[in-house]
Amino acid sequence: MRVVQSAEDLLFRQEARDWLAANVPGERRPHETGDAQRAFDVDWRRRQYDGGWGHIAWPRAYGGRGLPVARQLIWYEECARARAPAYTNNCCFVGLSHAGPTIIARGDDAQKAFHLPRILSGDAVWCQGFSEPGAGSDLAGVRTRGVIDGDSLVISGQKIWTSYAIYAQFQELLIRTDPDSTRHDGLTFVICDMSAPGVEIRPIRNIAGGSDFCEVFYDEVRLPLTAVVGGVGAGWDVAMSLLAFERGAASFPVAMEIAARVEELLEYVESKRPSIEGAGWRESALGARLAAVRADAAALKSMVYLLIARDAGPAEGSYVRLFLSELEQRVSALAMDLLGPEGLEKASLGGWPRRYLDDFKTTIAAGTSQIQRNIIGERILGLPKGGARR
Ligand SMILES: Cc1cc2nc3c(=O)[nH]c(=O)nc-3n(C[C@H](O)[C@H](O)[C@H](O)COP(=O)(O)OP(=O)(O)OC[C@H]3O[C@@H](n4cnc5c(N)ncnc54)[C@H](O)[C@@H]3O)c2cc1C
Repeated sequence: MRVVQSAEDLLFRQEARDWLAANVPGERRPHETGDAQRAFDVDWRRRQYDGGWGHIAWPRAYGGRGLPVARQLIWYEECARARAPAYTNNCCFVGLSHAGPTIIARGDDAQKAFHLPRILSGDAVWCQGFSEPGAGSDLAGVRTRGVIDGDSLVISGQKIWTSYAIYAQFQELLIRTDPDSTRHDGLTFVICDMSAPGVEIRPIRNIAGGSDFCEVFYDEVRLPLTAVVGGVGAGWDVAMSLLAFERGAASFPVAMEIAARVEELLEYVESKRPSIEGAGWRESALGARLAAVRADAAALKSMVYLLIARDAGPAEGSYVRLFLSELEQRVSALAMDLLGPEGLEKASLGGWPRRYLDDFKTTIAAGTSQIQRNIIGERILGLPKGGARR
C-alpha cells in the first residue's frame, strides 16, 4: 500500500521530527511500579502537551489541534522512529486512548470541559473498571452494583485487572444499576473518583515483575449522578463505544512501535550476526522469521492506514487488535531466539526479556484473541451468532 502525503503532511512530519529530536527523554522509563514510574509517564505527557503535541486529532476546544487522524498517525510514526517512550506502557494511556475519546463521543459539556484538558496535560491519570472475577470476556456479567440515592450513586462490589489503578485519579466504571436486569440492560457507565471514601486498591504482581494492575473494591462508594456518562441504564452502549476506541484507534501507536522495534532488531542483528555466522544467516530459519515479522509489521501499518482511509466501523478494530497482539508476541519471542544468551544480558536493547514476559498479556487485554475472532466472525463476516462477548 502506498500512502500519499501532501506537502503539508511532510512539513508536519518534519516539525514533529524536530520536536522529538529535542525532547524525547534520554533516560529509560523506570521498570518498577511506583512514584518514579508515574512521574516519568506524567512528565513525558506534560512535555508533549506543553510543546503543542497533546493530541493532534482532538478538538481545539479541549487542547487538541483539531487535525485529521492521518496527522495523528504521522505523529505516532515519528514517536516510534525517535524511540520515544512507548504509548501503552504509560499510565496516561487509558485516558488518552479510550476515556478521552469516549467522553468526546458520549460525555456532556461539563464532563468534556473538566476532564479532557486534564487527560491531555497528564494532570489526571485514568484507569478502566470493567472486568470482574465473573465478568471478563463476558462483560455483560457485571455485578458491581450502584443504587441511586438522591443525587448520588452508591456503589459496592469488586473489579479486577484494573491497569494503573494505583496511579489513577479517575476510572471508567461499569456497574449494574437495575438490580432486576440481566446481561446488557440495566448497566451504567460512571466516572469514579478514585479518591472517594470506600475505594480500596490492591495491586497484583505479574510475571514481568510489575504490579500496575490491581483489584479494586468498592464499599458504598458515593458518586454524584453528574458523573454518569450517557445516562443511567445506557452503560452497555457507552462501554461498546469505549471498546471500539480501545481496539481501534488505541492500537495505532502500538502498530507503529512494533514496526520500529522490528527495524531496531534487524539493525542489531545485522551488526552482529554476519560476523558470527557469515552473511548466510539471512537464509537461516531465524532470518526467515525476521523477514516474516518485518513483512507483517508493514502489513499491520497498512491495515491501520486502510482502516482510517475507509473510516471503518467499530468492529473492524478487532482485525488490527488481533493481528497486532499476536504479532507482538511473535516479535518478542523471535528477539529472544535471535539474541540468544546475550538477550538475557542485554537489557539495554529494548529490554527484550522483560518485554517477552510482558507480551503474554497482549492476547488477553482489551478482549482475548478468541473474542476478537468471534467479533470478526459475527459482526464483520456475518457468521452465525453465539460466541462474541464484550
Ligand atoms: C495486562 C492486562 C491488563 C488488563 N487491564 C484491564 C483494565 O485496565 N481494566 C479491565 O477492566 N480489565 C482489564 N484486563 C482484563 C481483560 O479485559 C480480561 O482479562 C479479558 O477480557 C479476559 O477476561 P478473563 O480474564 O475473565 O478471562 P475469561 O473471560 O474467563 O476467558 C478465559 C478463556 O476463555 C476464552 N473464552 C471466554 N469466552 C469465550 C467465548 N465466548 N468464545 C471463545 N472463547 C472464550 C477466552 O478467550 C480465554 O482464553 C486486563 C487484562 C490484562 C491481561
